Amino acid sequence: MSIITQKIGTLEILTAEGISAAHCFTTRFGGVSTGPLESMNIAIKLDETEENVAENFRILGKALGFEISDLVLTRQTHTDWVRPVTREDCRGCFHRDYPECDALVTNTPGVALTVFTADCTPILLHDPVNGAVGAAHAGWRGTAAGIAAKTARAMVREYGCEPGNIRAAIGPNIGYCHFETDDDVPKAMLAAFGEEVRPFIYPSGEKFFLDLKEINALALRRAGVTHIECSTDCTMCQPHRFWSHRVTGGIRGSQGAIIVCNSKEGSV
Ligand SMILES: [Zn+2]
Repeated sequence: MSIITQKIGTLEILTAEGISAAHCFTTRFGGVSTGPLESMNIAIKLDETEENVAENFRILGKALGFEISDLVLTRQTHTDWVRPVTREDCRGCFHRDYPECDALVTNTPGVALTVFTADCTPILLHDPVNGAVGAAHAGWRGTAAGIAAKTARAMVREYGCEPGNIRAAIGPNIGYCHFETDDDVPKAMLAAFGEEVRPFIYPSGEKFFLDLKEINALALRRAGVTHIECSTDCTMCQPHRFWSHRVTGGIRGSQGAIIVCNSKEGSV
């Protein structure tokens, strides 16, 4: 099972074959935004209009089966805060209208969770047995803080999920080919995860390259999640296809990782 590309008209999304809940990782393709935000941007930034963001979410909702009124978003601040949400938390498609957090979980049927990335690591979780879902944004600080594991554990704590039932998908991020750091980042990872993280840290002169997908997968395994599908895409290798913060110097749109909670009997 792996992450595959799906094209619906001009819309291009990535999905995990092993996750049966409606979900996707977005790309730059298939939206209505223009200029440096062309074309699928789902965050209010630069001179983006509310109309464009709403229309882009409508396009994604048509593909996945949700309405804008079903959305819960994050206002991300590189924390490890996981927020359990219900229908009462649905406030539409503008992230500034939401409280701060970097991950969401729910078991309310019909609620659609969204996190934003543009080099950071997006992670989606689904328990097909009880229907609970989760979505996390893992920057390197969130990765070191274990936000992937904390999101899975929140599903266990809040909804009674068995960790072994949870299926995880790790989406496009800045790959180990491009994520170059000083020694502060590997030190943080070794402090957080111990020697088991060493194979995912590549020294290069005085710098280091880190595989954040594998480190988040390690965190998920430690939380008991064994089904993990991992994208092979690097946002910096493919800046025409994905928003990359480092390539654009911040003049960029945002990708979304979206997952819709379905009832146990839900048809996807
Ligand atoms: Zn790369």
